[in-house]
Amino acid sequence: MNLPTESDQPDPRLAELRAGLTGVRTRIRTAAEGAGRDPADLTLVVVTKTYPADDVRRLAGLGVREVGESRDQEAAPKADALADLGLRWHFVGRLQSNKARHVARYADVVHSLDRDSLVRPLSAGATAAGRTLECLLQVSLDDDPSRGGVAAGGLAGLADAVAAAEGLVLRGVMAVAPLGADPDAAFARLADLADGLRGAHPGATWVSAGMSGDLEAAVRHGATHLRVGSAVLGNRPRP
Ligand SMILES: *Cc1c(COP(=O)(O)O)cnc(C)c1O
Repeated sequence: MNLPTESDQPDPRLAELRAGLTGVRTRIRTAAEGAGRDPADLTLVVVTKTYPADDVRRLAGLGVREVGESRDQEAAPKADALADLGLRWHFVGRLQSNKARHVARYADVVHSLDRDSLVRPLSAGATAAGRTLECLLQVSLDDDPSRGGVAAGGLAGLADAVAAAEGLVLRGVMAVAPLGADPDAAFARLADLADGLRGAHPGATWVSAGMSGDLEAAVRHGATHLRVGSAVLGNRPRP
């Protein structure tokens, strides 16, 4: 792939991405200041799903180091094609058990570990590749199983299983605010669950919460990782 260099034609897509990224970085800084938090404690993960590898390369040129994807079939070839960039790949989507072993070969962080049956294949994939995989437990903040996430009552047991697994490091929790819910209430609940988890696992300090529409609420409630797609890259076509 060749991206235009400075001596070539202007690259309008690069200008779009730069504007999107600047807007999101400004929102994060403003939200952090409003919450009395240090913006340096917040990691922006740019979710590039459905957008081409060329866009990820442009983003890397704009200083993005952490990128998120949600489907193995799309993420694996992108991670391969962009291996020269040294990016950190975050897997944020629903994880199928039969894909988990494969995801562990290229992902640095999995945000969507939500059931015991994923622990063994993730551990096997990471160990076989000689890698360590940082893991966040996705928690369900409502009772809708179709959106993924372990129920609050299952969190402690799942955490113990991940902490005991070779090749996996338990980093914390992740959630998506339920559709139509008040994001402040949802993320306050997540903060409570994260607090409880740290009682048994003091190293589980990451809270992945907040997307394009609700990142300010997530910052107010202690998020450490923000997963932002459309506000940087534009609206995805509906599936
Ligand atoms: C797509 C996706 C995001 C990013 O969503 P935007 O609304 O585009 O910012 C974040 N988290 C998960 C789990 C996603 O699937």
